[in-house]
Amino acid sequence: MLNVPSQSFPAPSSQQRAASGGRSKVPLKQGRSLMDWIRLTKSGKDLTGLKGRLIEVTEEELKKHNTKDDCWICIRGLVYNVSPYMEYHPGGEDELMRAAGSDGTDLFDQVHRWVNYESMLRECLVGRMAVKPAVPKDCREEKKVLNGMLPKSQVTGTFAKESPISPSYDWFQTDSLVTIVIYTKQKDINLDSVIVDHQFDTFRAETIIKDYSYLIHIGLSHEIQDFSVRVVENVGKIEIVLKKKESTSWECLGRPLENHNSLIPKKDKGLYYRKCQLISKENVTHDTKFFCLMLPRSTHLQVPIGQHVYLKLTITGTEIVKPYTPVSDSLLSEFKDPVLPNNKYIYFLIKIYPAGLFTPQLDHLQIGDFVSMSNPEGNFKISQFQELEDLFLLAAGTGFTPMVKVLNYALNNIPSLRKAKLMFFNKTEDDIIWRSQLEKLAYKDKRFDVEFVLSAPTSEWNGKTGYISSGLLSEFLKRSSDKSKVLICICGPMPFTEQGIRLLHDLNFSKDEIHSFTG
Ligand code: FAD
Ligand code: NAD
Repeated sequence: MLNVPSQSFPAPSSQQRAASGGRSKVPLKQGRSLMDWIRLTKSGKDLTGLKGRLIEVTEEELKKHNTKDDCWICIRGLVYNVSPYMEYHPGGEDELMRAAGSDGTDLFDQVHRWVNYESMLRECLVGRMAVKPAVPKDCREEKKVLNGMLPKSQVTGTFAKESPISPSYDWFQTDSLVTIVIYTKQKDINLDSVIVDHQFDTFRAETIIKDYSYLIHIGLSHEIQDFSVRVVENVGKIEIVLKKKESTSWECLGRPLENHNSLIPKKDKGLYYRKCQLISKENVTHDTKFFCLMLPRSTHLQVPIGQHVYLKLTITGTEIVKPYTPVSDSLLSEFKDPVLPNNKYIYFLIKIYPAGLFTPQLDHLQIGDFVSMSNPEGNFKISQFQELEDLFLLAAGTGFTPMVKVLNYALNNIPSLRKAKLMFFNKTEDDIIWRSQLEKLAYKDKRFDVEFVLSAPTSEWNGKTGYISSGLLSEFLKRSSDKSKVLICICGPMPFTEQGIRLLHDLNFSKDEIHSFTG
């Protein structure tokens, strides 16, 4: 639903047509790109037919607007006239029509919860529902003063009420410190599980527990200098230690802000962004660059292996969001000292598409400029590495990005690993990202091997050629022993990934042995 187009009028064969979310996109007519839509929304044209008025919409009224020429959809209690947007929607008119005259929140969340529809459809806003057709979140504010007493955590959404998870928090203080303790009561909690942002007096700590987020969200009663985060992993206890600015005694922690002390199901969770500074930008290939972003000093965030974040820029007045997968600063970091301390810098390998919407703007940023970055998302689980013996990576183009951390982690942390092999598909030799690092790594670590496959090689190339195929895969995917534990990761343009998964099933690899990275 209402997916932000990831391209301006892509050619029918463009792999970008189905860049994310695992769903097909439809060909858009000439002049119906996202940029064209933005232009239309800025033109001053009355897109709702209400001459700028906002109205209260009843359910009966909403139901009446259910045709392509007169199509209203409700998302999170707000009603939009999406008829003018129909031709610009990359998922096609039919997909939009599935929610015509009704509440499309669930459909929207299923496909692209992260899409910034408020900004995209601002000019299509008809008004608010008179009676909300669905209440996805319980946004009750906790009225209790936070004084260290344990208010029972609120669980938002109906699904969450069935959750067996019941985190809670407490706090205590010394002259110089305030310690907030979060009891997750779960074992698999680590420093990646908690994301903390402190800005002005607002303190926000989001703890990811399975498919939920537990939120501490407080307007602090006193100023702090700094904070640090500690995790006692085996008992699932998180300690956030705040350094007081003045050594006075705090009577309370502060005032509760939205969704404080709530457990929010992943599907209802909005994305939280903070501004990161561009520290450096280096060429990697003729079109791919290595970006380094710095988190704000008052943020604790680590992007888990296999997860991506969303970057957000305002392009001609509209907020545009695209997913990117952070990488390590190098494939060879084991062999060199890190240039910058690890925990504040996030690295990306990003291909700049000259005709693209987002990447040229990203490329135009100057060192010192800011870009908003979301919390991480993704469904790769570190437990997939357990007892792993053979790791096979199938990457195409920038689909290489999730493989970087996966490979680094497996080689450095999985004692059972016998073999890690990457088959890297590109158009030409010039397109291969980090080729020399990959070759050095293969030389230094005998468990690792890399094969390059080119789909549009020059006549000098005497390596493998073509698209992903059963012939290439059956030769490549040789287990180190008959019953070895295998994981195959695959990522690239959607047709590549889809075809690859089909071929892997044909070769009798099970679902559990395959992880595909998609939006
Ligand atoms: P778009 O506007 O989406 O354009 C994309 C393509 O369409 C380009 O080839 C462009 O040339 C073509 N096009 C545009 N206009 C026309 C036209 N008129 N005719 C024909 N073709 C046209 N990318 C990375 O580089 N690094 C990553 O780490 C990364 N991680 C990702 C993680 C996930 C989970 C997903 C789903 C995607 C990831 N991507 C990554 C892809 C990224 O999100 C964007 O899709 C990509 O950067 C393109 O964005 P854009 O707005 O610049 O281009
Ligand atoms: P590209 O156009 O340079 O193509 C790279 C290779 O992909 C080609 O050489 C070919 O072997 C293969 N390929 C391309 N089209 C194919 C098709 N129709 N059928 C079979 N194989 C095909 O790739 P790019 O421009 O670097 O694009 C990378 C893609 O990876 C983007 O779509 C991006 O969204 C996606 N990506 C996804 C994630 C993720 O989901 N986590 C992360 C990074 C990149």
